[in-house]
Amino acid sequence: MSAADIRHMASVLATDPVLGRTRRNSLQRERLWHLQGGRCAYCGRPTRLHARETDEDCATVEHVVPASRGGPRRAGNIVLACRKCNHGRGSRVLAEFLVAMT
Ligand SMILES: [Zn+2]
Repeated sequence: MSAADIRHMASVLATDPVLGRTRRNSLQRERLWHLQGGRCAYCGRPTRLHARETDEDCATVEHVVPASRGGPRRAGNIVLACRKCNHGRGSRVLAEFLVAMT
C-alpha cells in the first residue's frame, strides 16, 4: 500500500452514508470495521472491536492526516488500523510510516 492507496481508500470509505454522517469515534470505528472486513488498512491483519485498548489487534480509528497535524476527524480522513500500526505510526506523515514498515 502506498500513501496514495490509503488516501484513495479513505475517500472511497467516505461515500458510505453512515460513515459520512457521523463524527462519533465509536460509531466510526464500528462502521470502518465492517467496511474493511475487520482488517487493518496498513498491515492487513485482522483487528478486534472488543479487544482491550492496549491489545495490539484492537481496532482503532486512524487519521490519514494526523489530528495533531490538523487532519479532520471525519470520513475522508479516516481508515481502520490495528493499535500496533496506529501506535507505531505516531504523528509521522503517512509516506514516511509506510516506507518504515517495508
Ligand atoms: Zn496493522
